[in-house]
Amino acid sequence: MKKHNFSAGPSILPQEVFEKSAQAVLNFNNLGLSILEISHRSKDFVAVMEEARSLALELLGLENKGYQALFLSGGASMEFVRVPYNLLKENGKAAYLDTGTWAAGAIKEAKRFGNTEIIGSSKEANYTYIPKDFTVPTDADYFHCTSNNTIFGTQMHSFPETGVPMVCDMSSDIFSRELDFSKFGLIYAGAQKNMGPAGTTLVVVKEDILDKTGRAIPGIMDYGQHIAKESMYNTPPVFPVYTSLLTLQWIKNNGGVAAVEKKNNAKAELLYNEIDRNTLFTGTANKEDRSKMNVTFLLKDEKYTEQFDKLWKSADISGLNGHRSVGGYRASIYNAMPIESVKVLVDVMQELERNA
Ligand code: PMP
Repeated sequence: MKKHNFSAGPSILPQEVFEKSAQAVLNFNNLGLSILEISHRSKDFVAVMEEARSLALELLGLENKGYQALFLSGGASMEFVRVPYNLLKENGKAAYLDTGTWAAGAIKEAKRFGNTEIIGSSKEANYTYIPKDFTVPTDADYFHCTSNNTIFGTQMHSFPETGVPMVCDMSSDIFSRELDFSKFGLIYAGAQKNMGPAGTTLVVVKEDILDKTGRAIPGIMDYGQHIAKESMYNTPPVFPVYTSLLTLQWIKNNGGVAAVEKKNNAKAELLYNEIDRNTLFTGTANKEDRSKMNVTFLLKDEKYTEQFDKLWKSADISGLNGHRSVGGYRASIYNAMPIESVKVLVDVMQELERNA
């Protein structure tokens, strides 16, 4: 029996993706070989990489607009380093928005490279909101933000117009909603939420923002080298890339990002409505900044904790505990989460209220 998996990441993927990727481990493309034992230079795997790169751009509406998609390794944390390496000029300046633990992680790395200005922060309020009254300096080399704050359950619902390249960590909401992605100079996202297993990171970069720093960049850190080698500078993480491709195909076959977004809106509305209606619960994030991917909430009175935990566990719900820096509960309702599972959670919350 498959559980209702609300884990924040690694997290739920479409069941058909699990099935097809499992099959490829046993016999890929009917080759009589596992995807894990063939060369990444083989025709069959090169086709996987090419399709994954082009489908990522297609789903974001970025084909033929000067962008390149890469599937790299090292996690989103590696991009915290690659971004300043490739974009922060010697004696230049970077502007960062501090909206959570991961944004702060990106800032920490940028500071090692040079002048890094924090132009807005909600740290003083334990990151319960998205700062809005900030200005991106026009002399910055780039502006960095985090579209969805996985731990704190906040999400940017609008993005500033900047005169400088906008870089965005979309690890926990990539492919979940339509945006004008051409506003961004660089987008990166660890696979392990909306795309695939841990082990690869999607990087989408507008080529014309590169090569401007005057820095010597080690090959493995250099986006330009990865582009020149068609995302095969070194052996790519073949299984995460293949599984990501299957998820991208699933998104396309299900109506693309627009259709996925509609479902995500319905799931988030259902759950937030219950949190606001139910007398026992309260949300942790500022209402207008609530995330449609990670729904964070608390029991108003902790005396119900044991009873609630028992109820959701016996309803085959998994992964609902909040991050230690927020406490309470976090329901991650990524693209692959069916609304039926959200209904199971809502039913459990109502059952608690009836029995309290
Ligand atoms: N950014 C965000 C928004 C995240 O949620 C995470 C955690 N998955 C990271 C960055 C760090 O990702 P990784 O563990 O792949 O380095």
